[in-house]
Amino acid sequence: MKTQIESAAQGIVTKEMRHVALEEGVDAHIIRRGVANGEVVIMSHQHPIGIGRGLRTKINANIGTSSVAVDPELEVQKAIIAVKYGADTISDLSMGGDIVRIRRSVLQAVPVPLTTVPVYQTVAEHGSFRPITQEDIIETIRKQVREGVNSVVIHAGLTLKMLSMLREAQRVMGMVSKGGSLTSAWMIEHESENPFLERFDEILEILRARDTVLSLGNAMRSGCIHDIRDDPQSLEIRANAELADRANRMGVQAIIEGMGGHVWIGDIEKYVKYHKKIIDNRPLFVAGPLPIDVAVGYDHIAACVGASIASGAGADYLCYITPSEHLALPNLDQVREGTIAFRIAAHIGDSLKYGPSARDLELAKMRRRRDWKGQFELALDGERAREIHPQAKGCTMCGEYCALELMDRYLGVDL
Ligand code: SF4
Repeated sequence: MKTQIESAAQGIVTKEMRHVALEEGVDAHIIRRGVANGEVVIMSHQHPIGIGRGLRTKINANIGTSSVAVDPELEVQKAIIAVKYGADTISDLSMGGDIVRIRRSVLQAVPVPLTTVPVYQTVAEHGSFRPITQEDIIETIRKQVREGVNSVVIHAGLTLKMLSMLREAQRVMGMVSKGGSLTSAWMIEHESENPFLERFDEILEILRARDTVLSLGNAMRSGCIHDIRDDPQSLEIRANAELADRANRMGVQAIIEGMGGHVWIGDIEKYVKYHKKIIDNRPLFVAGPLPIDVAVGYDHIAACVGASIASGAGADYLCYITPSEHLALPNLDQVREGTIAFRIAAHIGDSLKYGPSARDLELAKMRRRRDWKGQFELALDGERAREIHPQAKGCTMCGEYCALELMDRYLGVDL
């Protein structure tokens, strides 16, 4: 079997490339070229989606149990809700309960691609780091790939050298990446180099066999806006860029996580461009970023602002933030709010990347005509609009002094 990137390199336009081209409204040869040079990846579950340069910004929603909150059915419902409100992909980050069953249920419940972070399952199954061998880590990846996950996150760019630099770094928040911290704890416990790095070629073989996308994790991201880009962060992004290049050459598609976490608003655009340059325009996946730290309980709003700027500057793929970020696992409403906040961010970002959309123009025309139902159809969350305006006629904001109605009457402009 040829992977998408192998087919693309040989000039073959696959049915997945054609599907993505149709969805994105671009020529299939542009998609093929993007896949061939690593700037676009195609993930396929029930339908293929494209992520990368020149394409609509995609959003990911995280779901999954934790070691202290285990309700498998609720997590499946979260995945369904996230997809309903516009998530392009789901990441199952479960660390509690029957992780394999939860993942299978999510895979069956949603049509969009599913990502996992295999080290979560390995650690959850062993309960501590010492008994885990490199082989256990590889075996988890092998099993998850066989089950059909579409992308796996590994923090292979992290090294012991970076960890010793982190010890000396003057960071407020240290390391905030969960996958990064689990990988680091294993390395320190075993006094050993990064297992994902040491077994990288073997992992690539596993991924290549099913065209599973490699996502290179961002262990060194900032955990607050006062933790500015430092040497460990720069070293990791460079290491991930080299690993992505190796992956592409082995026929494996790669996404690079970077830039995310918490970034002061004045640095977001500059950092995204810096990252995109280092990674040769490969798909950049950004968590958030949060441009302030004090929006606790409303982090989805703060992150929507950061993500809009990041997307507009070139980030291709955004990981949502919910109102419960830093506080708890989100409930269903919070998943909906986080997803919509990031649909808004992606839309603003695309508006910066590609210009104002036809959808915005159409909605404005509906608004001008006071066509409420038309507006609901075009709104990013029409259901919310209907909840606020159930009568779908008139508007209590200005009542009988509706500016639009008055001017239509006095100026007689006909649309
Ligand atoms: S009543 Fe006011 S807010 Fe409502 S549609 Fe008319 S101008 Fe707009």
